[in-house]
Amino acid sequence: MAGLLAVFAHPDDESMGAAGLLCRHSRAGVPVHLVCATRGALGWMGKPDGARREELPEIRSGELTEAAEVLGIAGVTLWDYPDGGVESSDQAEMTARLVAEIARLRPAAVVGWGPDGGYGHADHICIGKCTDAAVASLPQAARPAQYHMVMDQFLVDAYKDIISLVSEDTDSLPLIASDVDVIVELTDAELATKQRAIACHRSQQEDWRVAVESHPDLVRRGYGHEPYVRFPDRGARLAANNLLKEFA
Ligand SMILES: [Zn+2]
Repeated sequence: MAGLLAVFAHPDDESMGAAGLLCRHSRAGVPVHLVCATRGALGWMGKPDGARREELPEIRSGELTEAAEVLGIAGVTLWDYPDGGVESSDQAEMTARLVAEIARLRPAAVVGWGPDGGYGHADHICIGKCTDAAVASLPQAARPAQYHMVMDQFLVDAYKDIISLVSEDTDSLPLIASDVDVIVELTDAELATKQRAIACHRSQQEDWRVAVESHPDLVRRGYGHEPYVRFPDRGARLAANNLLKEFA
């Protein structure tokens, strides 16, 4: 088993959340793959200029391809479950497709959304649940280590400060702080790579994402710190599987 498989719900989850983790591994020669469950059709913000709403899935698919290249992701599997409708889709089918991806790629570790979905997003929660089920269905010896991407209090505070740049309502997103096992603190180069990956998602440049770019301190706090939690506790297996010690 080798490599890292990330499983997320929307194009940009990988860049906003796990870019540091993903590029650190890809730069170190670890094969990194991404499964993304939807093409993000609900994220219409009238961007980029001149785009039409019905073009959004295609635009976001292209943005994901660009961001994956920035992050050094070796392969992207993009599904077409409905954005906002992952939960009402066939979860047994999704789980079976994830089992097939894991069998094909044989990753040493899988990272994805946990039961809080970061901020309670139903698509995040559901694809996370299917990922958990897929890993759990494998025979013990074939199971990759598993991590959930979470927020800790440091990150919640950072995001509230970032959102306060554009809104007085910093509780509009119900950010959930967890206890964490692993924190990836990004180097300056990794942070720059993450910003470039995020910038690929041009259709998703909402006000705070634009505003934060002129506040390097907030970029560092909000983007430079990636917490993960082991699920369940299989950390001991990682060292034997060539993943970086920062993620072990
Ligand atoms: Zn998302």
